[in-house]
Amino acid sequence: MYHRFDAVIVGAGGAGLMAAAQLAGKANVAVISKLYPTRSHTGAAQGGVAAALGNLEEDHWIWHMFDTVKGGDYLVDQDAAEVLAREAIDAVYELEHMGLPFNRTPDGRIDQRRFGGHTRNFGEGPVRRACYAADRTGHMILQTLYQQGIKHQVTFFNEMMMLDLLITDDGVCTGVVGYDIHSGEIHVFHAKAVLLATGGFGRVFKVTSNALSLAGDGCAIAFRRGLPLEDMEFFQFHPTGIYKLGILLSEACRGEGGILRNDKGERFMERYAPTLLDLAPRDMVSRSIYMEIREGRGINGQDYVHLDLTHLPAEVIETKLPDITDFVRTYMGLDPVKDLIPIQPTAHYGMGGIPTDVDGRVTIDEENTVLPGLYAAGECACVSVHGANRLGTNSLVDLIVFGRRAGRHMLKTINENDFHPLPKEPDFRARAEVSALLEGDGTENANVIREELQEAMFRDCGVFRTAEGLISLREKLTELRHRYSRVGVRDKNRTFNMDLVETIETGYLLDIAEAVVAGALAREESRGGHFREDFPERDDVNWLKHTLTYRTSGGIEMRYKPVVITRFEPKERKY
Ligand SMILES: Cc1cc2nc3c(=O)[nH]c(=O)nc-3n(C[C@H](O)[C@H](O)[C@H](O)COP(=O)(O)OP(=O)(O)OC[C@H]3O[C@@H](n4cnc5c(N)ncnc54)[C@H](O)[C@@H]3O)c2cc1C
Repeated sequence: MYHRFDAVIVGAGGAGLMAAAQLAGKANVAVISKLYPTRSHTGAAQGGVAAALGNLEEDHWIWHMFDTVKGGDYLVDQDAAEVLAREAIDAVYELEHMGLPFNRTPDGRIDQRRFGGHTRNFGEGPVRRACYAADRTGHMILQTLYQQGIKHQVTFFNEMMMLDLLITDDGVCTGVVGYDIHSGEIHVFHAKAVLLATGGFGRVFKVTSNALSLAGDGCAIAFRRGLPLEDMEFFQFHPTGIYKLGILLSEACRGEGGILRNDKGERFMERYAPTLLDLAPRDMVSRSIYMEIREGRGINGQDYVHLDLTHLPAEVIETKLPDITDFVRTYMGLDPVKDLIPIQPTAHYGMGGIPTDVDGRVTIDEENTVLPGLYAAGECACVSVHGANRLGTNSLVDLIVFGRRAGRHMLKTINENDFHPLPKEPDFRARAEVSALLEGDGTENANVIREELQEAMFRDCGVFRTAEGLISLREKLTELRHRYSRVGVRDKNRTFNMDLVETIETGYLLDIAEAVVAGALAREESRGGHFREDFPERDDVNWLKHTLTYRTSGGIEMRYKPVVITRFEPKERKY
């Protein structure tokens, strides 16, 4: 089936819907989404969205910019961080005007709370910067933006899975190919501008806060089409996942006063971050938890510690953290009002992704050459505002600021250009992929491959890494890749074939894992979320640069590009 739209947005999370809101009513726009839009993972975001509104105490965008740069261990592109911090304020007000039900101060302004790494006056102490709607901020963003899309007649193709990106021989993006999960039909979408907003890839790890669907589709498809992925070695482990399950207990818990304790009941963050304590950035807190565990101070000598909320008023726990309270009661049978909660770090957020400029335009090399017609925003993109480590609440800002900028730039592209012809047989590759799986007689099981992949990645490419572990992991990935070439799906039906969908996703996870491991092996230093035990120091002389990983016919190729430094010179990161 053939469709023609001015703009096609792939992904109906916060980034995709914020872009769609800019185009709605001004262009003919389609949003295609593998999931029903309000099931997108933005809906799981709990704690808040950062913006220096200064509603409760003094705050300034430049403090926010500084925290973002420092939090990212100086790998952040500072031109982009400035845009993020400045435009966050206006973007939050835009959401408010669309009807987002933020928590309010007694005098009716948007309420704000503390989050890790957000400080006043360049690091003096914590500041209240996170705007929030209880612990359902992402859910509210998604509902608000989806309603805008419906109101302004955006065309939604739900449960439509992108399988391919259409790039002509002369290097112009002209559309995408989708697979309709309901009917099994292949659809070609011809467009003047395409936005990839397909979210993260946390499912590459065994213990993760990410939903099953977060398999890195957009990044993997771009990677297969020869585009680079930037800074993939930087993956964030969030300190407080429910033990063994990985389900997230938002940093808002610590923002409201929660404390991490070891087996002796000590507030161990006093040792590692004396100023910000439990509200230090996530990479530091996650590593500190593992240090406690390694030194035998995990609870009962095991691999977890406690999150303690018991000293907080029951009313704060029930009203400001209702979803989290519910999770703990449901999944652990514990009551946060009176019980300590077992937690361990959980794979959470990919700082790397498809490289873009500050208008969301995809760039393809170290000179930032733009690929005409193609945009990316949200977690699948890397405009490099998170650098080596993202601060809590800075992802939702990334979505709304850069989703908005991408949408606005797409409008310009649409108005200035005609449709570029599609490549010949645009759906050839996608049809071949689906047919090979449905009609082939492969015997390998994708679920088994996926589980082995996740296990190996969590073990050898988690919070701590070494060359030895990464090299053996790379060999494991080669073995899994061979096995994947013989994969088969047991369900041969065309309609709602989740066996097929998950098998395709497993292929994406393999691509993503290869890029993450290649970056982690190449980067011989420790910075932010990437900690090499064999190179424990940050090395600005050799490594103050971004990695660009390419998949070529000769294997993985690494290239590098400089970090943009404007206002803040790199210095040691202490909290
Ligand atoms: C539990 C949890 C709590 C969090 N809390 C916070 C927080 O408090 N503050 C904060 O700033 N950040 C938070 N984050 C991070 C933040 O929520 C995510 O980074 C962000 O929501 C990602 O948004 P997105 O628009 O990029 O992608 P998503 O919301 O994940 O949306 C991706 C979209 O792409 C679609 N898609 C994917 N692949 C395909 C395909 N092949 N074809 C078609 N469609 C496709 C999906 O259907 C979906 O619509 C949290 C994350 C988690 C997991």
